[in-house]
Amino acid sequence: MGTTVRCPYCVLGLEFRPMVAHVDGRYICNRCGHTTRPCDATYDCHCTRCLKLIFPGTMVSGDRVTAAVESKTPAATGWAPRKT
Ligand SMILES: [Zn+2]
Ligand SMILES: [Zn+2]
Repeated sequence: MGTTVRCPYCVLGLEFRPMVAHVDGRYICNRCGHTTRPCDATYDCHCTRCLKLIFPGTMVSGDRVTAAVESKTPAATGWAPRKT
């Protein structure tokens, strides 16, 4: 009792947004449409955000971040830490 299921994609104030419990055991986020079923570990959500995680090629805003991270790696810059 009293367990609050929260959407991992949406923030409400300083916390993740509480999801709405449905009679079939699922919880649904009424903002992004994400669904989950805590009692069923094999449950697959098919909201747009989860589908982006499954198919990264559909991501539109993440490639710029990935490029920035790769450019900072030692292999890319030729820089390597040296112990004296
Ligand atoms: Zn959400
Ligand atoms: Zn989802």
